[in-house]
Amino acid sequence: MIHGNSRGLQHNALLLVHRLMWRLSRSMFDEIDSFAWTQDWRIERRITRRLYHDRRFDSLVQCSECHGSFVVTEDEECRICSGTGHLILLPMPGGEG
Ligand SMILES: [Zn+2]
Repeated sequence: MIHGNSRGLQHNALLLVHRLMWRLSRSMFDEIDSFAWTQDWRIERRITRRLYHDRRFDSLVQCSECHGSFVVTEDEECRICSGTGHLILLPMPGGEG
């Protein structure tokens, strides 16, 4: 049954190519992934690209008073965010962060 095995061979060949591409991807991104890991960045891995996210940005939110415009009136900067346009959320004590 040659026909029955050809589909299995195609599947195995695709699987082999897929594994080889991931291996190549890991070797290409190895150095920057190591750096990101030491910085405690979150890493989303795809075969052809990486997305690195500094977890500290998770704690930034837009100021609810000035909505990121930095000033409330023309002469007065926002008192809530001190004119930065954002607030930094602090982790809850005893929380997971
Ligand atoms: Zn503000």
